[in-house]
Amino acid sequence: MKYLSEYRDAEQARLYFNEIRRVTTKPWTLMEICGGQTHSLVRNGILDLLPKYITMVHGPGCPVCVTSVSVIDEAIYLAQQDNVILCSFGDMLRVPGSGKSLLEIKVKGADVRILYSPLEAVQIARENPGKEVVFFAVGFETTAPANALSVIQAHKLGINNYSILASHVTVPPAMEALLSDKENKIDAFLAAGHVCTIMGTEEYYPIAAKYKVPVVVTGFEPLDLLQGILMTILQLEKGEYKVENQYARSVLREGNKPAKDSIQEVFTITDRTWRGIGLISSSGYEVNDNYKKYNARVKFSLAMPFAEENNDCISGDIMKGLKKPLQCPNFGGRCKPEHPVGAPMVSSEGACAAYYHYSGAVELNPTI
Ligand code: SF4
Repeated sequence: MKYLSEYRDAEQARLYFNEIRRVTTKPWTLMEICGGQTHSLVRNGILDLLPKYITMVHGPGCPVCVTSVSVIDEAIYLAQQDNVILCSFGDMLRVPGSGKSLLEIKVKGADVRILYSPLEAVQIARENPGKEVVFFAVGFETTAPANALSVIQAHKLGINNYSILASHVTVPPAMEALLSDKENKIDAFLAAGHVCTIMGTEEYYPIAAKYKVPVVVTGFEPLDLLQGILMTILQLEKGEYKVENQYARSVLREGNKPAKDSIQEVFTITDRTWRGIGLISSSGYEVNDNYKKYNARVKFSLAMPFAEENNDCISGDIMKGLKKPLQCPNFGGRCKPEHPVGAPMVSSEGACAAYYHYSGAVELNPTI
């Protein structure tokens, strides 16, 4: 296939739906890891058209959703310092910290700038030598190479007024945490195609073998998702648990070596607290000691107290696959995109935002 529209072909989709119905004999619960996959499933009506005995649950692959309250408080603290320019991807601005959001303090005068690339932040640092420029480096393995490159670039250029507040998280430890949960209901995973484009598929073989779960690396278009679901169910029905690659047009088993090298050059593995889920050991990246002068936590001696999460938000249960967004009592009432209670209603990859915008729940319920 050559054009994007071919991955959205209705007749091909019909054939996949028919085949999924034909091969499925038992109820199965599948988790798509990535919020981009969740949005595509909901926006394209796939959840409504799958057989009722296939349950899709929505995983933690939304960087905005899993960035902890404490880290957002760190970003807010930095942005409130007189000489700091805090740069961030746009979605992070509306996520509530323990008190405020970055957007609220921006409105009150803090120098918070929305960027599309951390390399822009390096340029801002170059143009503002009297200021400290901090990039809020969130995301999964997908954004880590560009954030690492910004540090390498600053180092090469001799720029000393640049640093990053790293809050990277990594997928495989989170999958293991979900599978180890005593309430776990996940039978198989659709792994995130773009994460695997960077990291490859090697990390998933031990997980599939240890927990006896199929893992199918899957893309984001409707036909990608339907093919990934079909491949997963074929394995489940045969009692297999292999790693397969539906997204072969982008993912190599070994991943993208230069991108992985840049991650290894700048970061070290660390424990990370995931919003809604809690501490997962060895599940994040932090700037390593070789580049510690670019680590905002070191540069600003950050020692923020641990911030409690809002107990009214059930995002943790949603990201563990135990609940769906429409089961949250706040959905569409207290919690809407324009006044979110939790991060999954903010992010363009959040499950709650996907259901709010595309599921028809709002149109069907006039009280929302
Ligand atoms: S609807 Fe709002 S409060 Fe409920 S889980 Fe989603 S983000 Fe959290």
